[in-house]
Amino acid sequence: MTDGRLPGRVALITGAASGMGATHARAFLAEGACVLLGDIDDDKGSKLAEELGDNAAYVHLDVTASADWTAAVQAAVDRFGKLNVLVNNAGILDGGPLGTYTEQQWRRILDINLTGAFLGLSAARDALVAARPSSVINVSSAAGIQGVAGMHGYTASKFGLRGLTKSAALELAEHGVRVNSVHPGGVMTPMIAGMAAEHGVAEIDRAQNTLTRLAHPEEITSLMVYLASEESSFCTGAEFVADGGLTAGSIHA
Ligand code: NAD
Repeated sequence: MTDGRLPGRVALITGAASGMGATHARAFLAEGACVLLGDIDDDKGSKLAEELGDNAAYVHLDVTASADWTAAVQAAVDRFGKLNVLVNNAGILDGGPLGTYTEQQWRRILDINLTGAFLGLSAARDALVAARPSSVINVSSAAGIQGVAGMHGYTASKFGLRGLTKSAALELAEHGVRVNSVHPGGVMTPMIAGMAAEHGVAEIDRAQNTLTRLAHPEEITSLMVYLASEESSFCTGAEFVADGGLTAGSIHA
């Protein structure tokens, strides 16, 4: 009988009702953590938490709302006694050429993908420090390492998340909180499913990366477990790329 790789860890995962967030939640629980799932999809989120058992709970958490963040951090402490892992995973994807992509789209995606993580770090700071050693994982993207044509808001938000990771890591290191960013390439989740339906999975797979396929969510989750645990105790302010070679360079001479 083992305690798993995350004994004594209490994690708050945003955007946990579906896609990668849900996969991370399952794996964290299997490794011995307690998990508070946050999302705006209350139906899906609460059903999932119920299915996952006593060490899981759901809270309505719109990452753009400071009051939701305050309540979510308090809920983690009330239910599980502390908070020592924060996964800023919630995000949206959109795009469109300059001149067509609207100011409203720009502001919305920056608000959810970037400001949401800032609000989370701000709200959770004291709880994370109190429960040290703690770990924050900001889910950026390969689009936070290199640009993507026509995806201005998404690319800017994911580059911004990479910068926020470093400023927070530098500030929080002395308080026992590590902060890292994760940069997945294409992963088969509901976020990508729409694109796949439009263009065909084979085409997307070929276009994605050197491994010529999309990742399974579990291939990102294994990295998340490592970062959430003290196995990664010497890692902070760092970028963890899992993109099938997408940002390694071109295979063409
Ligand atoms: P997904 O669309 O499957 O899930 C996203 C979840 O976030 C949903 O449950 C949604 O309800 C929730 N959400 C949306 N707005 C929210 C808000 N304001 N507050 C709280 N929750 C909100 O997406 P996914 O593919 O699992 O992506 C998860 C993260 O990984 C995102 O940050 C995404 O940008 C990033 N990412 C995804 C891919 C990919 O190929 N799927 C690649 C790189 C990075």
